[in-house]
Amino acid sequence: MTPRIILVTGGNGGLGQAIARNFLNENAENVLWLSVRARRDRAEALKAEFPDRIHLVELDVTQPEEWKIAVKKIEAEAGRLDVLVNNAGRHDDALLATMSAEAWQTVISTNLDAVFHGCQAVLPLMISQRGGRIVNIASLSALLAPHGQANYAAAKAGVVALTQSLAKEVARIRITVNAVCPGYIETEALQHMSEEERKAACAKIPMRRFGKPEEIAAAVRFLACPEASYITGSIVKIDGGIF
Ligand code: NDP
Repeated sequence: MTPRIILVTGGNGGLGQAIARNFLNENAENVLWLSVRARRDRAEALKAEFPDRIHLVELDVTQPEEWKIAVKKIEAEAGRLDVLVNNAGRHDDALLATMSAEAWQTVISTNLDAVFHGCQAVLPLMISQRGGRIVNIASLSALLAPHGQANYAAAKAGVVALTQSLAKEVARIRITVNAVCPGYIETEALQHMSEEERKAACAKIPMRRFGKPEEIAAAVRFLACPEASYITGSIVKIDGGIF
């Protein structure tokens, strides 16, 4: 397989790290660009392990100007970009009646606006290459719309719709756009859950366990691989059978 240049946002997070490792294992010559923002300890540790194959790039995904700078840097150094994984995200749960406007706006901006900015930033390069892969990390919340997550569910449902719409727009130029919808996955994003909440959540999962980041990363890598060239506009849920 031809080595590839891959950009993963949220490169310090649980899923970002697993996705990066999966692409590193795919081909010994793949080169990963990991976006970092506030925290960078794990991304730096991975870079120390693979100094020639990992680059860190500062990027607040909600800022279109930062996206332009990051993509220019990748283009200048690598000459191309084969894969974008829009993985950065966050939630700030509350009942809608009492949700602050800030919690609404930040979650929409980090999970949905960011995917728009990211796709817009990489498309000129992918169009000029006449090919590319975009994988957006949505969430099972996009499909289930859980109570207490109006902001997050709306943002991730927006990601699903954006994915399907953009897939149609760029299909003829061999750019595929797909999304994955993870259920409960063991990362820091679930740290807020109490033991009781975890037990209650597990009881609703037919497989009776949370997913591992590696189980999401494998699907992301597959959607981004050359063999997945006819898969576009797909929404892959990975949730141990909840939905
Ligand atoms: P983590 O909290 O471990 O990682 C989230 C990452 O996103 C961090 O690296 C964080 O960086 C980054 N990030 C947040 N805001 C911004 C921003 N404005 N600009 C740049 N980076 C930002 O969570 P996960 O790894 O679990 O989540 C990854 C993705 O998977 C998210 O989109 C999440 O919504 C989705 N997901 C996760 C599920 C789960 O159960 N874990 C389930 C369904 C979906 P920093 O810490 O520096 O802010």
